[in-house]
Amino acid sequence: MKKLRLILGDQLDSQHSWFQEYDDNTIYVMAEMRQETDYVKHHIQKVVAFFLSMRNFYTTIKNLGHQTVYFQITDSTNPQDLEKIIALCIEKYKIEKFEYQFPDEYRLDEQLKTICSKLKIDSEAFDSEHFYTTRHELSDFFEGKKLLLMENFYRNMRKKHHVLMDGSTPVGNQWNFDANNRKKYKGEVPVPSEKNFQTNVSEIVAQIKKTNIVTFGNIDVQHFSWPTSREQSLAVLDYFCKHLLKHFGDYEDAMHTDEKFLFHSRLSFAMNSKMLSPKEVIETVIAFYHAHETEISIPQVEGFVRQILGWREYIRGIYWKEMPNYAQLNILKNTNKLPDFFWTGNTKMNCMSHALNQSLDEAYAHHIQRLMIIGNFTLLTQIHPDEVDAWYLGVYIDAIEWVEMPNTRGMSQYADGGIIATKPYVSSGSYINKMSNNCAKCHYNVKEKFGDKACPFNSLYWNFLDEKKEYFKGNQRMAMMLNLLNKINPEELYKIKTKANAIIENMDSY
Ligand code: FAD
Ligand code: SF4
Repeated sequence: MKKLRLILGDQLDSQHSWFQEYDDNTIYVMAEMRQETDYVKHHIQKVVAFFLSMRNFYTTIKNLGHQTVYFQITDSTNPQDLEKIIALCIEKYKIEKFEYQFPDEYRLDEQLKTICSKLKIDSEAFDSEHFYTTRHELSDFFEGKKLLLMENFYRNMRKKHHVLMDGSTPVGNQWNFDANNRKKYKGEVPVPSEKNFQTNVSEIVAQIKKTNIVTFGNIDVQHFSWPTSREQSLAVLDYFCKHLLKHFGDYEDAMHTDEKFLFHSRLSFAMNSKMLSPKEVIETVIAFYHAHETEISIPQVEGFVRQILGWREYIRGIYWKEMPNYAQLNILKNTNKLPDFFWTGNTKMNCMSHALNQSLDEAYAHHIQRLMIIGNFTLLTQIHPDEVDAWYLGVYIDAIEWVEMPNTRGMSQYADGGIIATKPYVSSGSYINKMSNNCAKCHYNVKEKFGDKACPFNSLYWNFLDEKKEYFKGNQRMAMMLNLLNKINPEELYKIKTKANAIIENMDSY
């Protein structure tokens, strides 16, 4: 029987069971499509990374002997739309059955179901074989529970998959070393430079420009840094184990103006495109740890494992549990617009300038920059979560909706009313000062609440608490913050709120 198998741009897993068998009657189709480049405005590096990784994957499976069809973005025969591409291939190759792997995005899942319902031939969907969990495993795990605590899910995952376990006891006699992950980075240990592949991507960038795809952000076309093949992805993993793992946990929450990546792995794109599986990443890291136990401590390893076995799987489970309603949530009823400086990086706030310019230059910011600088600012200025989501979905190399949206709309913007975070991740300037060196060189004074030189985060923080106090009054975890708010005398609060509103009304001049 002649089969057509679809491979989406984030399904680049050459270890998938599909590729372990050979059949001349099976044709694999891959396509660069306007449908995928245009649903949100993407960073140029994100488009390049996906197209190049797809092309490399196509070459890999073709060289392995599989029948493969590929549509480049500039091909005149490319219909640029999934339904039309499938129809074209079915007709051209006289296909009798259509097969695909379950997509990770709700949007594509719905589209593929609709396409299949209209086909006159049989169709079948297969597991992507990528995640530890099935789509609905988290829903089953939390069945009947009010609080969907990540920690409970994570411990269960550790036990179920026997990861960092000594019988029924967690290795190191502790499930979680989060308290050890909060060091400020003061240059005590040098940060190795990132693994950079220096790929020349000028040809692909020229193709993207030729098709008038609207992108943003910067790119060095001679020295593209991200991994775009399985071999390069494995090299990033190897580099992480050898050079970064030993300090990963210590500086996980740190920020520094001279260090863009600190000890972070930069593995998210390789994993989200499925060039690497989470299982092989975790197993490689743990094996390396066991071979180097005298140099690497357990909090570094547990901190890393928690991000992937815990957070990554949890976030995916929340997405499938809550979609499609999740995409509409705006519990705090925020309505403001994103300021222009999110697209230019042009602001006097040093912390925002660093985090935004780095995002525009590298298509990357690490977790704490995304959460406690940029996300903190958008929540404090009460920007509509749709605007925040669209920006995060476009800017980061690793941004695919299943992982971007629960992190942004949920964890960072609290638009889901606490499904993920039990309290909003907001802070005044003092947290940023504690965890980074940004404030020392800032135009603003982190100690001041009002006045021309006052740190904007300070007035915005108290204003946010005051504006949302009715909503949060029953939340025990907010009680201390709201008590402090109550202690501010009315005259001072008035001045703070006047300042905050002036910032919100004219964000681009700050
Ligand atoms: P490391 O710090 O080295 O962590 C290792 C791995 O753990 C990551 O590669 C990632 O796969 C996983 N991980 C860590 N935290 C999370 C998390 N919260 N959710 C899921 N996986 C996690 N991650 C994405 O992959 N895509 C996104 O679009 C995305 N958007 C985010 C938006 C916001 C507002 C926030 C706060 C976080 C977001 N994250 C997202 C999670 C996290 O910031 C990135 O996974 C991480 O910065 C990627 O860099 P790294 O590979 O160097 O990570
Ligand atoms: Fe950011 Fe305020 Fe510190 Fe400036 S003073 S870097 S705006 S927190």
